[in-house]
Amino acid sequence: MADHAGTIPKTNSKAEANTRHEVRNWIGGEARVAAGTIENTDPATGAAIGPVPDSAPDDVDVAVATATAAFEGWAGLSGEDRGAMLHDLADAVEADLDRFAHAECVDSGKPIAVARSIDIPRSVRNLRFFAAAASQYASESHDVPRQMLGYTLRQPKGVVGAISPWNLPLYLLTWKIAPALAAGCTVVAKPSELTPTTASMLGEKAGEALPPGVLNIVHGRGEPAGASIVTHPGVAAITFTGSTKVGRWIGETCGRDLKPCSLELGGKNPFVVFDDADIAKVSEHIARAAFSNQGQICLCGSRVLVQAGVYDAVVERLIADAKALVPGDPLEPETRFGALVSHDHRDKVAGYVERAVADGARVLAGGGVPETLPDRVRQGAFYLPTVLNHVRQDCAIIQEEVFGPVCTVQKFETEAEAIELANGTPYGLAASVWTESLTRAHRVSAALESGIVWVNCWMLRDLRTPFGGVKQSGVGREGGWEAMRFFTEPKSVTINLGE
Ligand code: NAD
Repeated sequence: MADHAGTIPKTNSKAEANTRHEVRNWIGGEARVAAGTIENTDPATGAAIGPVPDSAPDDVDVAVATATAAFEGWAGLSGEDRGAMLHDLADAVEADLDRFAHAECVDSGKPIAVARSIDIPRSVRNLRFFAAAASQYASESHDVPRQMLGYTLRQPKGVVGAISPWNLPLYLLTWKIAPALAAGCTVVAKPSELTPTTASMLGEKAGEALPPGVLNIVHGRGEPAGASIVTHPGVAAITFTGSTKVGRWIGETCGRDLKPCSLELGGKNPFVVFDDADIAKVSEHIARAAFSNQGQICLCGSRVLVQAGVYDAVVERLIADAKALVPGDPLEPETRFGALVSHDHRDKVAGYVERAVADGARVLAGGGVPETLPDRVRQGAFYLPTVLNHVRQDCAIIQEEVFGPVCTVQKFETEAEAIELANGTPYGLAASVWTESLTRAHRVSAALESGIVWVNCWMLRDLRTPFGGVKQSGVGREGGWEAMRFFTEPKSVTINLGE
């Protein structure tokens, strides 16, 4: 099923905006304050929206101790019982979809329509998907008749640390904690300090659905809160989604402690259009791939590569679609393009475009902040959907992740050239290939250095498939049984059947 499926229910957005949730740590089945606080800001308005716990190593110690105490009981339940409780948690989130969507919109600047139709429904789906997995997970046996019988016990790893980013806050947090809980682990999770609210709300829902201590949410900055989870001796494994820079540090740190870690990192994804593609289908998806969530999805097709024969037609359509995406108030139900997550991030994105232009790039669409915005969001962190061409392969705009509404366009002549350009960055997360030739689709998919390849689609996801990147895009895979395997340790038991 496609991630973007779903209708957008109507909402009285402004009224709901006024009911703010107080963000608190959730440890041992109760809300807790931390030593300090940091301020949370609405990026669409620039206004302060409330304090967030700035957890210290001591707060993490308490959460890990609580998760450790809860582990034996949780791991000792049947998968079916754990699954039933995860379904209860999914029900509780679903029943409160409006408030969750609201909080996600105000924290991140994304359109309320997107939060309501994608972020929160997908979070519910993550919980339900792994609730089902909990009841279906089984292990293998290997027998040699009359000699031996071996079987593999897949035992939960223990307390795991889950650290998530701001771009799809509840969606990515549940993508981690659902399989961890399904597998029988207990969790200490830290959401991004920029978008903490829905995680805090999830903690409270867990208070109704799960035994105390099974899911603990600790808020705060990467350093010290996140780093304390990574280095804590009581944490058996780390699942991390975020930047390559932080992922590299986590990988090094876990490596020193021989602690397993799964790292889902940045992307610089090629969207490759061949002459023989169905251009009508390409046109439907190209701007969506580049600019969904204001270009702040690790899977966004930020490098558009087009074969010479269809270059003009494809680029013309991309420019028109980029210009048609008008930034608006994220709380208005009709808005389809919102604010970036913060003013700092907006300035970083703008800096990349300025440097690219100084390096010779041409701006085909966007390339700055919007000149007009609705009154309420005039001070917001907005940036126009931007298309650039005349970019060299070695430029920062091609080689580095911008993570904003900016895509580059490059022309190629041959399939070999397309593959060379597509593979010519340090990243390897997701590629999208457009061709009506079956043999080319298989050949190019095999040649791309990428954890994920979509053919004639973008972000069409089946939650059972392995999800993750190669090169600087990460280590390990999430999704389906891959995730369940990460959170369990295989133990090989052999019984002598002979004399
Ligand atoms: P980030 O790396 O700055 O932060 C991610 C999380 O790590 C946050 O919760 C942060 O507080 C925490 N953190 C920061 N320093 C830490 C440390 N030293 N120890 C432990 N935790 C620490 O990333 P971000 O800016 O929040 O998110 C954007 C990045 O995430 C982009 O690079 C994007 O590509 C990536 N991302 C990847 C995927 C994927 O599946 N591959 C999905 C979404 C986002």
